[in-house]
Amino acid sequence: MALEMAFPIVLILTLFISAFVVLTRHQAHMRAQRNLPDRADYFARVGATGACPKCGQTETEEHGLDGGSDDVRIVSCAGCRALLYQFRREMPAD
Ligand SMILES: [Zn+2]
Repeated sequence: MALEMAFPIVLILTLFISAFVVLTRHQAHMRAQRNLPDRADYFARVGATGACPKCGQTETEEHGLDGGSDDVRIVSCAGCRALLYQFRREMPAD
């Protein structure tokens, strides 16, 4: 096989492998978020302050599991970005 034929094949293989690695990591990240403890379990475990077990920071940031408007909220540490807990946002009463 000519060398000029090998290059596009290697390129395509690299793209496929990269896509696979990215997807696998994303799935692992999503699974880690889904397996997070509930808010009540988390506070029962770490105490009423809710301080991050890794760095002790009490400031948190929150985002939706599947995008910003998801009602399942994922809370992570604002200091070290460790995943802390999840909770379900109550539907707005209207
Ligand atoms: Zn932290």
